[in-house]
Amino acid sequence: MAFKWDLAVIGSGIVGLSSTYHIMKENPGLKIVIIDKESTYAQGNTGKSAAGFRDLFSSDINFKLSSSTISFYRHLQNVLGVDLGMHTCGYLYLIDDEVSKSGTFLPVLKRSRSRFLDRDDLSPLDSLRFNPEKDQAEIMGLKNIDKGFLGENCGIIEPDRISRFYYEQLVKMGVKFMFGTTVSQIELSPITPLDYPGEPFIWQDVHVRSMKTDKGDIEAEKYIVAADVWTTYLLEKTGIDSHVRPKKRQVFQISGGPIEKLVRSSLIKGENIMPFTVLPSHEIYMRPVPQSNSIWVGVADNYNRDFSFTEDPQPEPDFYQNDIYPVLEAYIKDFNSAKLTGSWAGYYSYNTMDLSPYVFGDLNLIISTGTSGSGILKGDAIGRVVAARYNGLEEAELFGGEKLRTTSMGIKRRVIDREEFIL
Ligand SMILES: Cc1cc2nc3c(=O)[nH]c(=O)nc-3n(C[C@H](O)[C@H](O)[C@H](O)COP(=O)(O)OP(=O)(O)OC[C@H]3O[C@@H](n4cnc5c(N)ncnc54)[C@H](O)[C@@H]3O)c2cc1C
Repeated sequence: MAFKWDLAVIGSGIVGLSSTYHIMKENPGLKIVIIDKESTYAQGNTGKSAAGFRDLFSSDINFKLSSSTISFYRHLQNVLGVDLGMHTCGYLYLIDDEVSKSGTFLPVLKRSRSRFLDRDDLSPLDSLRFNPEKDQAEIMGLKNIDKGFLGENCGIIEPDRISRFYYEQLVKMGVKFMFGTTVSQIELSPITPLDYPGEPFIWQDVHVRSMKTDKGDIEAEKYIVAADVWTTYLLEKTGIDSHVRPKKRQVFQISGGPIEKLVRSSLIKGENIMPFTVLPSHEIYMRPVPQSNSIWVGVADNYNRDFSFTEDPQPEPDFYQNDIYPVLEAYIKDFNSAKLTGSWAGYYSYNTMDLSPYVFGDLNLIISTGTSGSGILKGDAIGRVVAARYNGLEEAELFGGEKLRTTSMGIKRRVIDREEFIL
């Protein structure tokens, strides 16, 4: 008979790691295995993230998830001395007068440490062209940079280092990892089998008894599916809906020319790094990479970006050249002397209804997915909600003491306003 685990977790990205960490803290001695098809942890979308963090969200729950997670990461780095590469260099939306007067930012201004900036405040970013050329502006619908909106409890972080923290703690706590192991199927079996062909019948109670993997069956009391975009395909046969869809997201690394100076154009006292910056048009973002004096550029393009999925998504050079380059060239002075020095692609697991994460239970499974492009900056709090659900608690206590009803992130009693601040 196969060894029976108390809990099997599929996925060693930030969600699987943080969830298991918080479960283990409450239940030392539990026999837990984490399974991942990759050769080590954080090789899925966690490793492909642009890794900006912010607490600028319109929905209450997303604010709670992000602000408590940021505080936890800061605690790890500043109090416990775990270097997460966390820089509070800010998160800057560049906007025109119309948007600044529209009230878009008022809900976040009230609760996040943030402020509007005028052009004088933005003067350190003098590698930028505040008024793009008229013909370029007309053809590409480019807005002027009249103002900024700066989140000050925001910045950049290294997801592999956060993941390493959780991983090392989990190893110390006795959690087993099975890397290079692919779960091929999750199937439902009768709780009380009759050994009759065609089981399970609709009148039999079912559960997941074991999971098939290329290294043999794994049997556990309970399962956590923390497999991000892959969740949909893993659950396919069970008839349980993941409620998420994949969208390909690309990152392009740009170096040289005006970029070196731009990266060092700080707006926050005590930092010498530019903020994670969103251009006023088409939501193209620039993430500073201080180690290499370069930037990562990305965009959450939606129209004509289909929901197809492949195991190994590739960045598209034409997308950079035709869609992104002309906009950057219009906003960054002397941009043609910069070079494209790298690129990669991953997926957002999109909750297409309210653009916020899910944590829900069904049978003996807990499913945590739908991070919708902000799973790093909410990772610790999501893990605490999963752990509360595992422990059968009605409320999860986030870092700092804030409470969250576990069902509010579920399906049946979900209470989340549609998120307006998605990138
Ligand atoms: C380009 C890009 C930019 C992003 N930028 C940001 C950002 O700035 N800030 C932010 O907070 N978030 C950002 N994100 C989102 C963030 O990366 C995700 O929300 C987060 O990594 C999700 O974590 P996860 O643990 O759910 O998923 P993953 O890290 O993808 O983990 C899922 C794991 O499951 C494993 N797995 C899947 N199927 C199987 C199977 N059948 N058998 C075994 N193992 C399996 C995978 O190998 C993987 O390791 C970005 C994402 C992308 C792609």
